[in-house]
Amino acid sequence: MDIIFNCPNCDQELAVDQSGAGSQIDCPSCGEHLTIPATGKVTTGELPQVPPPSSALVSPILASAAAKVPLHLKVPVRDTPSESLIDKPKPPLEAVQKGAGKRLRVRTVRRASCIEGGHDKFDEIVSAFLQEVTETNIIGIHPINYEHFDVGVQKIMTDYGLVIIYRG
Ligand SMILES: [Zn+2]
Repeated sequence: MDIIFNCPNCDQELAVDQSGAGSQIDCPSCGEHLTIPATGKVTTGELPQVPPPSSALVSPILASAAAKVPLHLKVPVRDTPSESLIDKPKPPLEAVQKGAGKRLRVRTVRRASCIEGGHDKFDEIVSAFLQEVTETNIIGIHPINYEHFDVGVQKIMTDYGLVIIYRG
């Protein structure tokens, strides 16, 4: 081990082997005659040790850990889509019994669209439809009058038909 001390005259840092303690030397810098002290900054002869950088490296981790602490306030995330906030009211019991899940529908039958091969099949078509829907599902039947361009006579004709409101 070396004894490290400063020259009392010129303050030059000097390193002398510990075995030289108490010896008298001349300062290599200023030539001052000086005595090597018994004690000084004793070193192992290696370079002065820099404090391990671990303390500096730990701090970012600690800072990161500290930064995560406020995350307990995060917004909860659902895995499934949120259900509707408004529940659809269930249909009244009476409607369920009568309609049995059927919906209100409208069928408009124009007489002009019932001409097949020159024959008026309006009544036949309407009758078949009413038979299909059945009487209990008929809500209302309303006659209509309408105008249409008749290709045969090349004139605008007035015709009639029915609007049938039913459950189906
Ligand atoms: Zn000196």
